[in-house]
Amino acid sequence: PETMMRLDKYIASVTELSRKRARQAIHSRQVCVDDIIQTDHGLHVGADNKVSLAGRALHAPGKRYFMLHKPRGVICATRDSHQTTAIDLLDVERRDQLQIAGRLDIDTTGLVLLTDDGQWNHRVTSPNFACIKIYQVGTESPIDPAIVECFKQGILLQPENKRTRPAQLLIRDPYHAQLGISEGRYHQVKRMFSAAGNAVATLHRSAVGDIRLDQGLEPGQYRPLTQAEIASMLR
Ligand code: URA
Repeated sequence: PETMMRLDKYIASVTELSRKRARQAIHSRQVCVDDIIQTDHGLHVGADNKVSLAGRALHAPGKRYFMLHKPRGVICATRDSHQTTAIDLLDVERRDQLQIAGRLDIDTTGLVLLTDDGQWNHRVTSPNFACIKIYQVGTESPIDPAIVECFKQGILLQPENKRTRPAQLLIRDPYHAQLGISEGRYHQVKRMFSAAGNAVATLHRSAVGDIRLDQGLEPGQYRPLTQAEIASMLR
């Protein structure tokens, strides 16, 4: 059963506002619940409601958000009897409630976000929100500078018939580039390079939206997201 609480208490628990200030914000019509202005501070809301303050969405209380530095050899699945999963690396309670917000292949390293907030997960992964994922790519062959424009225009990935969204490729040296994409199709980065006649040798995700992989995290380590990191996805 979902825990419901009064709107003023809810706002006080997920912002810096005191209960009194929260009530003032509600009465001055700054608070929306599911996109409708609410002036009753006693209204009961829960994690499934979308609450915003002064136009800014607030994340659900009691929900958890983590960043993991995924090592090679770990799969992004919730449970697997044979292989270590991203969830297995988190030593937290109620692990089975955590979802992976954007999967990485077994041989890809880097930033993986995990949460039990389905709505937040949706903001990260739904192509509708166009959250940009940044990858550091190492290739088998020298990178042809002409693919910068191809990736920008979007390319066809067989057997799909819809072009990829504009992607930003920054060539660092002949074998290394940074790629920014705002969707997450199956093996997308590898398939994009393959379509361009090259092959991905190493792949590392360094950022998702404004959330960057913490340089202090060794592969296999994780930490909770900060309030600012959580909120950055709700803008
Ligand atoms: N694209 C891929 O091909 N693999 C990943 O792990 C992530 C993006």
